[in-house]
Amino acid sequence: MGSKMKFNRVLDNLKTYEAGKPIELVVREYGVDEKDIIKLASNENPRGCSKKVQDAVCKDVSKMNLYPDDSMYELKEKLANRFDVQSKNVIVGAGSDQIISFGVHAKANSTNKVLMAKTTFAMYEIYARQTGTTILKTPTHQHNLEEFLEIYRQNSDIGVIFLCLPNNPLGECLDRDDVYKFLDQIDSETLVIIDGAYQEYAKFKSTKKEIKPKDLIVKYPNTLYLGTFSKAYGLGGMRCGYGIADSDMIKSLMKLRAPFNITTLSLKAGIVALDDEKFVQDCIKENFEQMKIYEKFAKDLGFDFIDSFTNFITLEFNDDKNSSEISEKLLKKGIIVRNLGAYGMNAIRVTIGTPEQNVRFMEEFRKIYLNKMEG
Ligand SMILES: *Cc1c(COP(=O)(O)O)cnc(C)c1O
Repeated sequence: MGSKMKFNRVLDNLKTYEAGKPIELVVREYGVDEKDIIKLASNENPRGCSKKVQDAVCKDVSKMNLYPDDSMYELKEKLANRFDVQSKNVIVGAGSDQIISFGVHAKANSTNKVLMAKTTFAMYEIYARQTGTTILKTPTHQHNLEEFLEIYRQNSDIGVIFLCLPNNPLGECLDRDDVYKFLDQIDSETLVIIDGAYQEYAKFKSTKKEIKPKDLIVKYPNTLYLGTFSKAYGLGGMRCGYGIADSDMIKSLMKLRAPFNITTLSLKAGIVALDDEKFVQDCIKENFEQMKIYEKFAKDLGFDFIDSFTNFITLEFNDDKNSSEISEKLLKKGIIVRNLGAYGMNAIRVTIGTPEQNVRFMEEFRKIYLNKMEG
C-alpha cells in the first residue's frame, strides 16, 4: 500500500476546464430526447461547416493512416496570404487553445506575472497556473485598458498580458486604435496575446474592431495574434487554430510543439475552409440578424444584455432572477446555455443558434422567466 502520489504543486489548486455540457450528457442525465436538445453553450456555428469542407474531408478519409504534412505548408501559405504576412509568421495548433498554451509556457514562470481581464476566457488562467506564475486580473468584468495600464505600471514583472478581442464570455470588443495605443506603452519584453477567436464577427459588425496581424508584426513584435477555425468556420470538432507573430517568436513557440499536432483531416479541413469565404460571411450575416431578435427580446422582457461582437449574447438579470436557476430549468427542457454565475455574475451566455433554435430558446426562456412553468 503506497501513499497517494504527490504531483507538482502547481496542480494542487488548478481547476479543470468545465466545457459546455455535451448533448450526450443531457440525454443521459435529464432523459431529454436527443432530437429535442439544442446546444447554445459552446459558441459553435449552428449551421455546421462548409459543404466544400465536408466533401474534401470525406474524400480524404482513407488517408487516416498517414501522418499529416508536419510542415503544414499549404495551410500556412494560405493563412499567410489571407493576412498578408509570411509563412514563417504562422504556427498551427490543435485549436488556438494549443497556441495559448505555447505562448504562456514560453514566457510565464514562477518569477513573473500574467495579467488578464476579470471575466475572460477561462483557459488563460488555467494554462498560466500550470507555470507557477502569479495571476493578476482587472477589477471590472469587461476589458478596460486604463485598468490594464494601471496594473501594468504598478507591477514591473508582468510577463504576459491577455487581450480577448472580442471577449468570451461577455462579447464586448475594444477598438483597434485604443488597442494599438495601449501596445505603444507596453515594454517589448512583455508578451501580449491577442485572442481573435471571434474577430471574423467583430470586423463584420464594425471595421473599428478589426485587428490586423500584419500591423502587429510590423509595429509590435512582442504580440501574438490567435485565430481559430472553431467558431465562424464551424470546425470546432476538428481542432484547428493558428498563431501569427514575429518570426523569431514563432521559432520559439515551435519548440513547444509536438510533431503532427493536428490531424491529417483537420489540416485538410482548415485548408479548404479558407476557400469558402461565402459560407462564413453568410453565417455571420445571419448571426447578427438573429442577435437583433435577442436584443429586442431582452428589452421586451426588461433585462440587460451586453452589446456583442461575437456569435453569442450575454443576458444579465436583475436581482429578482437567478441565472443558475434559469440555466437549470432550461436544461430540463433540453436547452444548454452557459451560466456565468461562477464569474460572480447573474447572467447567462447564449450562443446564437439557427432561427428555429432561437425561436425555441425564446419560447422556453419566456415561460421560465415569467414563472409560467408547470410543475
Ligand atoms: C473558442 C475560443 C478559443 C479557441 O478555441 P479552439 O477551439 O481551441 O480554437 C480561444 N479563445 C477564445 C476566447 C474562445 O472563445
